[in-house]
Amino acid sequence: METLIRTPAQMDPLSRLTEYFREFPGIGPRQAKRFVYFLMTKNSSYLDTLAKLILEIRKNIRVCSLCFRFYQDGSSKVCPTCSNRNESQLMIVSRDVDFEVIEKSKVYNGYYFILGGVIPILDKEPEKRVRLQELTERIKKGDFKEIILSLNATADGEHTADFIKNYIKEKVFGDITVSILGRGLSTGAELEYSDADTIKNALKNRETI
Ligand SMILES: [Zn+2]
Repeated sequence: METLIRTPAQMDPLSRLTEYFREFPGIGPRQAKRFVYFLMTKNSSYLDTLAKLILEIRKNIRVCSLCFRFYQDGSSKVCPTCSNRNESQLMIVSRDVDFEVIEKSKVYNGYYFILGGVIPILDKEPEKRVRLQELTERIKKGDFKEIILSLNATADGEHTADFIKNYIKEKVFGDITVSILGRGLSTGAELEYSDADTIKNALKNRETI
């Protein structure tokens, strides 16, 4: 799922850096340029620290072997959240930011699974977009009674929820209820920008599908 940006070597460093910033979520070409100009106003010690922090990311970050989210430090293969959870529920979210928002709302105490993205409508290779194989293994490993789909109420989010629902049902994972977040989340809403009350209501009003 990781893309390596190939900027031509003959391109000047500022343009190359702009191209890298353009890859950031939600950042367009103008904002990418603003980041570069902002950095140009900073002194060497600021830039050194920033560069070091970026390099540190790889060193201290682990991927949890159960939920697949990124977490820092820790000597076990399982993140602190997965170490102590109610085994009967598994919530499927798209990205790490969605996990964080739901955790902050303090309304859920089950396990999580991070899909790693969404499946765009008409996409031909869903297995390249999200962690399907890992999801299958996770469900088999657990003892879940309910799987809750917590995806964005956007077109791609709904398509992904639909796909995952069918995928789970097709594989017939015993007697597991599959539910989806309820109406608390209005159409077009992204979990990332939802407040705790909205998430609480959406979870309370979840529907079995
Ligand atoms: Zn975990």
